[in-house]
Amino acid sequence: MTYPDCNNISVVLTHTSHPGNIGASARAMKNMGLSRLALVSPKEFPSGVAVGRAASAVDLLDQAQVFGSLKEAVADCGLVIGASARSRRITWPLLSPVECARLLVRESGRNRAALVFGREDTGLSNEELQLCHYHVQIPANPDYPSLNLAAAVMVLCYELHQAALAPDNPEELERDWDQPMATGADVERFHEHLERVLIAVEFHDPRHPRQLMQRIRRLFGRIRIDVMEMNILRGMLTNIERKLDGKPASRNKARK
Ligand code: SAH
Repeated sequence: MTYPDCNNISVVLTHTSHPGNIGASARAMKNMGLSRLALVSPKEFPSGVAVGRAASAVDLLDQAQVFGSLKEAVADCGLVIGASARSRRITWPLLSPVECARLLVRESGRNRAALVFGREDTGLSNEELQLCHYHVQIPANPDYPSLNLAAAVMVLCYELHQAALAPDNPEELERDWDQPMATGADVERFHEHLERVLIAVEFHDPRHPRQLMQRIRRLFGRIRIDVMEMNILRGMLTNIERKLDGKPASRNKARK
């Protein structure tokens, strides 16, 4: 049996307040064959408590990358999935733990991927959830669906491990895309560019934003733009800006 290689998949814990949860999550990850841990603004890290709870998974803590924001943590990722116990105001494409695991395993050969977990008290913020292509929910008691952070990490990593061990499903492999997906950083630059252009053409008024930019984010997140498509879209936006400035459009922006 080949042991799963989940090197392209990272677990991201955002704003964790209890270092014990960081250690327990690292242990759960290593038990399930995952090794890439990223932390976004942890309250206390490095931490002796985390080391104690990690047991023989301290190597994951030693190698953990620490970031200032989720945007930075997923900048190189072509697939981002956020774990959330609750449904939010704007509904987002939602996966079951098994679907989440299958998608991560299928795509991790081609794209860097992240599985993101929120704060112990308030979970992921709306802004953080909107950086994700999909949300994943662990079905639980409707009267008390919120798992301990490290327990949630364990459930999803367990499913990942199961999916990674499963023999390749040829039907799923056929759906492999011919281009890598745009990364989190590409997508951020695109949304900033698009917002600038929408303001310039007076379609978007930042003083009365309503939920326009969130809805557009959800739209493009659902499509999951690849790098080639991203070049085309950025080229279109650049030409709109040039025209607005009275400059000639630059030709051949859209690479075929
Ligand atoms: N009270 C918070 C829950 C925080 S639990 C809230 O209502 O959002 C800490 C983290 O564990 C969550 O942000 C989420 O990433 C994960 N988690 C807990 N329960 C989960 C569930 N049922 N499904 C998916 N993720 C869950």
